[in-house]
Amino acid sequence: MKLFPVPDVPEIREGDDLAAIVSERVELRPGDVVCVASTVVSKAEGRLFDLSDFPAGPRARELAGRLSELTGDEKDPRFAQAVLEESVELVMEEPFLLTETRFGHVGVNAGIDRSNVADHDLLLLPKRPSESAERIRAGIDADRVVVTDTCGRPFRHGQRGVAIGWAGMAPARDWRGEPDRDGRELGVTVESVVDELAAAANLLQGEGADGTPIVVVRDFEWGDHGESDAHFRDVEGDFVRQALRNWRYD
Ligand code: GDP
Ligand code: MN
Ligand code: MN
Ligand code: MN
Repeated sequence: MKLFPVPDVPEIREGDDLAAIVSERVELRPGDVVCVASTVVSKAEGRLFDLSDFPAGPRARELAGRLSELTGDEKDPRFAQAVLEESVELVMEEPFLLTETRFGHVGVNAGIDRSNVADHDLLLLPKRPSESAERIRAGIDADRVVVTDTCGRPFRHGQRGVAIGWAGMAPARDWRGEPDRDGRELGVTVESVVDELAAAANLLQGEGADGTPIVVVRDFEWGDHGESDAHFRDVEGDFVRQALRNWRYD
């Protein structure tokens, strides 16, 4: 398996055709996985906003006030308002906002990004990243597309790439029922392939001024394994998230 960045990607603006940008620069092969940073998907989809687009309601003012007090860092209530509007559930409200976005991804500040955003204050995640992935896939005739974002991790320091959308492939490889080397049957392992590809792609995407938001993964073989649609957990089956519900920071 090999990974390489798509060269010479320009600054992406609203309306840009990411599929055309890839196909003009790379001769894709069957089975290639095109991994696209959500930042450029969002830019192409016009998800750039300013703080002034989000006049703060009482809930956002309360959240921002409390966070400013807790962290000693002045938080803009309009930012909290943008986070609330992108979210269906506030999972943690202190000492940072952890929410579930409308498409099921749980992340800090609903994944709203303030880096690599030209001329605006805020870059929201794509509305429905798997639909974005499907549009790109159809446009380049790529076999598989993954939309990535860099996210923090509970329990560990350091961020890494994760998949927030995908098309042309199942998100997970199901090992259940397969034997290990001693013939013991695997009972629980459902491997999040899209997250693993996103993490690998993120190594080449970079986080700063690299300018390499699109990475091609070549010769990744799925192998003779089952598929699973499992990716975002439902709250009913997510015991960590349930435990956070009554939690307070002090
Ligand atoms: P995220 O992980 O989706 O939040 O994206 P990042 O902000 O970490 O950016 C990933 C990579 O894409 C970095 O190398 C950035 O320099 C690059 N990048 C971001 N926006 C653009 C753009 O409009 N054009 C190009 N060529 N690169 C960009
Ligand atoms: Mn991001
Ligand atoms: Mn990143
Ligand atoms: Mn193991």
